[in-house]
Amino acid sequence: MGYPQYEENFEDLDSNSVEGLIRLSRWIDNWPANRARDREAALWGRVAKVGEEGGEVIEAMIAATGQNPRKSVPDGDGLEFVQKELLDVAVTALGAIVHLREEQGVFGADPITMLHEHIAKVVTRAQEKDPNFPAPLVVQT
Ligand SMILES: [Mg+2]
Repeated sequence: MGYPQYEENFEDLDSNSVEGLIRLSRWIDNWPANRARDREAALWGRVAKVGEEGGEVIEAMIAATGQNPRKSVPDGDGLEFVQKELLDVAVTALGAIVHLREEQGVFGADPITMLHEHIAKVVTRAQEKDPNFPAPLVVQT
């Protein structure tokens, strides 16, 4: 059985990352074992996966800092692996947003723009909370 085809045109998306996230999300959704799940179970699965990736970050931190005497500390900078796992959390969360939006009938949602807007809101709240919040960074050209 093939994957469903979607009709939207991605020329309007300004980021290959967005297109990639949408394709990854649909690939996961259309995996046979996932396609067999009901909608709520599928959403729970996508949200739970974010937590699973968070667990991998913790596992990487434990390894990088040598906390487990039964395991050796990874060669090189174990924090690079921590960073990779943090990015896995971000990608998994953004993919879950694509899944959620498509479940709501919104196709071609742009989770990168949503992330930018969310960061701006968080910064605004932080600035309002703390007068010592760092000043805007000025890019010198
Ligand atoms: Mg991971």
